[in-house]
Amino acid sequence: MVIGGKTVGYRNFPMVPRVVFGKDSFNQLSEILSPKRKHPDAPFIFLVDDVFKESEIVAKIPLIYNDQIVFVSANEEPKTVQVDALVQKIQKEYSRLPSGIVGIGGGTLLDLAKAVSIGLTNKGSSQNYQGWDLAKKPSIYHVGIPTISGTGAEVSRTTVLTGPTKKLGINSDHATFNQVILDPNLTRGVPKEQWFYTGMDCFIHCIESLNGTYLNAFSQSYGEKALELCKDVFLGKLIPEESRDKLMMASWHGGMSIAYSQVGAAHAMSYGLGYLLGVKHGIGNCLVFQHLDEFYPEGVKLFNQMKEKQGIVMPQGICSGLSDKDFDIMIEVAMAMQPLWENALGKDWRNCIDRGKLRSIYERM
Ligand code: NAD
Ligand code: ZN
Repeated sequence: MVIGGKTVGYRNFPMVPRVVFGKDSFNQLSEILSPKRKHPDAPFIFLVDDVFKESEIVAKIPLIYNDQIVFVSANEEPKTVQVDALVQKIQKEYSRLPSGIVGIGGGTLLDLAKAVSIGLTNKGSSQNYQGWDLAKKPSIYHVGIPTISGTGAEVSRTTVLTGPTKKLGINSDHATFNQVILDPNLTRGVPKEQWFYTGMDCFIHCIESLNGTYLNAFSQSYGEKALELCKDVFLGKLIPEESRDKLMMASWHGGMSIAYSQVGAAHAMSYGLGYLLGVKHGIGNCLVFQHLDEFYPEGVKLFNQMKEKQGIVMPQGICSGLSDKDFDIMIEVAMAMQPLWENALGKDWRNCIDRGKLRSIYERM
């Protein structure tokens, strides 16, 4: 098994030990958190996507004692400086460690909640922990409550952060949530295009996992289920309620599938777009994936059908006007994702792609 480019024994990865699924299960939050309260002075900190300011979701958060809601914008993906600032704020305002961190939002807020819960017990900047298994101390109790479906961040042991020198996950057993609440009703207000882009993140996880050289029966079983659910959601005739339920479970299964394999070419190149242009994960993957028919012919065909059926018009020309240096930066970032290429193309991946090929794909976007 290959982790972070290194061959080790079979991956012994943690799963979320507790999960609630169901419409309005969010209402059980108070009952879930109560036994985890350590002391009246040890608060719960709720990191909430600021899109929910003024919403009934916020009104339902069970604040007691000195609990606090911190609203965070999801307009940009999480950064190490942002994690460090949140950790410092909490340490300054409270004399005790919090009872827990609760992240409410999409992948951005879920990743922040994971990183802050690690940062509160592991000294120094979160950038020190970007990589594989670098955080040595257990994180504090943390709960993930997704409000949009697709990334699989609710189930993964990763928190993707942009640091001063690199965009790289904190990959750690301590990142995995202690509790997840899957309430499909929380995803009701997601705008259509965002729904599609984040949903396609899940679809692309499935395609990259199922067509990868790292595939095994564990990943395949979850990946096939997630793919079937994605087809139901994006090509079928579901009523909205069924669609929300199924996409939430597709995200979970897609995340489980890549937990035991790896993503591939679309993610590698999307990292380049994200690093240079700040293009977000979901849309970045779609922008790349549509041009990867050489690697994933069936997947790209399905993607185009889904895009058409859902009436999504992708932005065009995002790489027009970029300099040679800009292309080089994106290519550098993409090529550095060795395990992703190895999964996509096999051990001799360097013979299958080169800088020129990546540049020609970027130029078509
Ligand atoms: P997001 O959290 O970036 O949110 C996207 C947009 O949707 C934001 O504008 C947000 O405010 C809005 N939104 C979310 N829920 C809403 C709701 N219910 N109603 C209205 N608007 C809502 O979206 P995402 O695609 O879930 O997450 C992307 C992030 O996830 C990236 O930072 C990426 O790196 C990360 N990611 C992490 C993993 C992992 O395993 N940790 C995997 C994939 C992606
Ligand atoms: Zn992804």
